[in-house]
Amino acid sequence: MTAQIIDGKALAEELRQGFKARVEALTAKGHKPGLVVILVGADPASEVYVRNKVNGCLAIGMHSEKITYEASVDQATVLAKIAELNADPNIHGILVQLPLPKHFDEEAVLEAIAADKDVDGFHAENVGALAQGNPRFIPCTPYGVMKMFEKGNVDLTGKEAVVIGRSNIVGKPMALLLINAGATVTVCNSRTKDLKFHTSRADILVAAVGKPKFVTGDMVKPGAVVIDVGINRLPDGKLCGDVDYASCLETAGQITPVPGGVGPMTITMLLANTIEAAERKAAAA
Ligand code: NAP
Repeated sequence: MTAQIIDGKALAEELRQGFKARVEALTAKGHKPGLVVILVGADPASEVYVRNKVNGCLAIGMHSEKITYEASVDQATVLAKIAELNADPNIHGILVQLPLPKHFDEEAVLEAIAADKDVDGFHAENVGALAQGNPRFIPCTPYGVMKMFEKGNVDLTGKEAVVIGRSNIVGKPMALLLINAGATVTVCNSRTKDLKFHTSRADILVAAVGKPKFVTGDMVKPGAVVIDVGINRLPDGKLCGDVDYASCLETAGQITPVPGGVGPMTITMLLANTIEAAERKAAAA
């Protein structure tokens, strides 16, 4: 069997085209959606992510700006800027690019963002709402994966879903979303004793490990839906996922490629969250 490829790039483009009308409608009512991305330090990968986020907003008519600080900036300066942005009526979404330099208390910074502008969905209030099955902002990467399931008519109810990885950014919210959707969910981590036992009975397998080509075809149940969240840079400069695409392509029923799978969906869902924030504000005005 050769798996059907889930084209995240095409889906992301389709969704972004659909967002334009919502942005226009909001702009006409004086609520042009606005996103600010704060970048501390000059990590090259983070710079690329931030540029793509800002450009993604601008391309569909939203307002977006980047605020950069030297890696040596003190936390109080960043917190003061967040407080200012929390009070700015033209800004609907605030995102602090992670990771932050070591002298920062990441949790304190994320908690400083107003929950109704937390378009990354990392604020405790939003994490709690998601855990209760009543999400306000869903973290963008797992949100993008859920959109892929929705658009691909993947029925999650009663399915065995296995998530490899338990990070706050991907694994944990992914597991919560799958639970909320009625799947039977197992979350694996670096201490899981027999990983293959779990992965090989998964109807839905999500890899968010951060290790190149970690999931091989022999670990996958024939016909499974395999979602590769990983983005790893190989020594030759090429990108690859956490899934060994070549071997899993033969076993899986559906699979996401890297690049062109989950990656483009992540920024798309950031745009979706920011538009949603602006729509909520417009409705309350
Ligand atoms: P992370 O914080 O490093 O978490 C990795 C998780 O994998 C941890 O929970 C870890 O377990 C688990 N793990 C590591 N080795 C394992 C093993 N041998 N067996 C089972 N589990 C193992 O990474 P992350 O932020 O979740 O990101 C994961 C990947 O997704 C990375 O490649 C990242 O670049 C990528 N990513 C992509 C997007 C996108 O837009 N496509 C967005 C975010 C992240 P422990 O908790 O026990 O250490």
